[in-house]
Amino acid sequence: AAVGFAFSLAACSGGRGNGDTAASSSDNKGALVGVAMPTKVSERWIKDGNAVKEDLEKLGYKVDLEYADNKIPQQVLQVSNMITKGAKVLVIASIDGGSLSDQLDAAAKAGIKVISYDRLLTGSKNVDYYVSFDNYKVGVDQANSLLTGLGFLDANGKKTDKKGPLNVELFAGSPDDNNATFFFNGAMDTLKPYIDDGSIVIKSGQTGFTQVATLQWDPATAKARMQNLVAKSYSDGANVDGVLSPYDGMSIGIVSALQGAGYGGAAKPLPIITGQDAEAASVKSIIAGQQYSTIYKDTRKLADQAAVMTNDLLTGKKPETNDDKTYNNKVVVVPTYLFQPTVVTKANYKEVLVDSGYYTPAQLQ
Ligand code: BGC
Repeated sequence: AAVGFAFSLAACSGGRGNGDTAASSSDNKGALVGVAMPTKVSERWIKDGNAVKEDLEKLGYKVDLEYADNKIPQQVLQVSNMITKGAKVLVIASIDGGSLSDQLDAAAKAGIKVISYDRLLTGSKNVDYYVSFDNYKVGVDQANSLLTGLGFLDANGKKTDKKGPLNVELFAGSPDDNNATFFFNGAMDTLKPYIDDGSIVIKSGQTGFTQVATLQWDPATAKARMQNLVAKSYSDGANVDGVLSPYDGMSIGIVSALQGAGYGGAAKPLPIITGQDAEAASVKSIIAGQQYSTIYKDTRKLADQAAVMTNDLLTGKKPETNDDKTYNNKVVVVPTYLFQPTVVTKANYKEVLVDSGYYTPAQLQ
């Protein structure tokens, strides 16, 4: 059972009958909810999809849960089908945030409410709510953990007297995912003073988002780019000391590229490498002393909130939000419920991931 579900259900409140709901509650008993997820390649989305489905089924709804194999036309078709099948609410984690506008128009016409799940749907006014983590803060946390791993910050986040210069390379996520720029901006705002005063050197010179973005967060693309960077910018014998990686799958590819280039022993240790999602493979890598950190985002909480919002919409309540200013999707500012991320390293993984029941000890062996 999802942790905190009973709590969040009890805690949800808001005005009734504000005209902002899909239909009256009695009509919606046992209604169909469409849940569109991007891919099963990354473990987090499997956890997300399962948790949303389980929560909605507990509330008595029928659920059409679909994965699109990271293929945009497939997701377009899946969402179209959900509309045809009569879904009353759509919960969508998009592949390309801007690719579903026609479907969102059709949904609005049919009175279907749309919740943007973790990734913001962009370029359409027909997005009713957004539930996610504080995406800018994720980037800040990634950069701060990189600075801690490199020794510029102590365990309490205080600046040390370390001077550098240390060599860092930067990676960003997929340019069609609104989150990717939030992560990158949060990280770069945090790293900037260290780059400006020469403590950190980006030896490749690649610092712009478009230069470092990774289409569809693809681990193989990240691996190939890391191999390239080492070959082109470090052939003088200099070492890579740190890598800003936005997502665990990419971090695994980056570790593998560096190991292939001779990193990993005592003479040439792996750099400090960040990540995101606390996926099992990366937590194992952290325990083994390879990847340095990840960002834990409890998908159970996100799923619970999406289910609570859906239920509110279908029972005549106004969903609770806590940020109605930040997420402008290029057409409208979407009312948002944000959770806070948590940095995980070897020092706290047990407490954060095992004691909370997110993983059993066996899953991390
Ligand atoms: C999510 C991250 C995830 C990335 C790759 C982003 O939209 O917010 O948690 O690492 O997609 O799947």
